[in-house]
Amino acid sequence: MLKVDQDKCIGCGMCAGLCPESFMMNHDGKAEVVKGEVTDCAKNAAEGCPVGAISIK
Ligand code: SF4
Repeated sequence: MLKVDQDKCIGCGMCAGLCPESFMMNHDGKAEVVKGEVTDCAKNAAEGCPVGAISIK
């Protein structure tokens, strides 16, 4: 299960660029989860998020 903290996300777009199957940018310029499955690329995106907005459960 993936979750993006909308308050933390700064809209850098990294996660959506790295793992578009899991993340997309919404109309507020924040990332949101497309598919909650915990894949390798989703993990990489979570680790790479500069503000730690992506959580994995
Ligand atoms: S990598 Fe983090 S800060 Fe950047 S868009 Fe994704 S959730 Fe937001």
